[in-house]
This record gives sequence, structure tokens and C-alpha cells, in this order.
Amino acid sequence: MIREAGLKLTRPRASILAVLESSQKKHLSAEDVFQVLTQQGQQIGFGTVYRVLTQFESAGIVKRHNFEEGHAVFELHQENHHDHLVCLRCGQVKEFFDEKIENCQDQIAEKMGFAIIDHSHVIYGYCSDPECTEK
Ligand SMILES: [Zn+2]
Ligand SMILES: [Zn+2]
Repeated sequence: MIREAGLKLTRPRASILAVLESSQKKHLSAEDVFQVLTQQGQQIGFGTVYRVLTQFESAGIVKRHNFEEGHAVFELHQENHHDHLVCLRCGQVKEFFDEKIENCQDQIAEKMGFAIIDHSHVIYGYCSDPECTEK
């Protein structure tokens, strides 16, 4: 995936991609990735993690979201479009896709003479997870 995206395969890049691919959590901050690498005993600095994630973003391997101000999370780029629900208490992110909402957006854009390239739809609130606590 790294070479296909036109990037040279380096050890940090391969390790960081492996973290993204194997993580249960699909929306990871640079800190999250750094923590996993450190737990694995890999010596990759935080600056490198951040730089590689930004390179991945430019190469289209990951998508960056700024759900909360000053806090970017990255997820592997997926073929299937989806939107997000973000819990303001525990920070958990859920994904959803709704045909009706998608169609509605298309119709609105058409009415306004707008060609859609991309959109993101984020719903903020509080989840009902019993383990939901303040981060
Ligand atoms: Zn997502
Ligand atoms: Zn929550």
C-alpha cells in the first residue's frame, strides 16, 4: 500500500501502517499510534509518527479528521463512504451510513448548482455506553 501510494517503504512507515491496520480502534491520534509503537518496543519518535501520518494523508492512505478542536485523528482510507458520531464525554467515534441522508445531500447540492467532491457529516453528543466516562 505504501509503494502503491508512491512512497518509499521505510521501517517507520511500515510499522505505523501495521498499527493502523491491526488496531481495534479505527480512529487514532498520533499519540495513540506512538503509544502502541512504544508498547511494542519500537523506537520511533513522536515527531516521526506525526510526520509519517501527514505523509500518509497526502498520499491518500489515511484520512484526517478534526472532530475535536486541536485534536486530529487518522483512519485508514476506506472505499466505502461513511459519516461519524462523536461522543463528547469519552471521545468514542462511531460510523454510520444512511442512504437517505446521502441522497438528500446530493439533491441539495444539485439544487444549489454544486458539484460535490467530498463531504463530512459529524454528529456530536453523548453515547449510551455504560463505560462512557470523561477522558
Ligand atoms: Zn471513520
Ligand atoms: Zn461516550
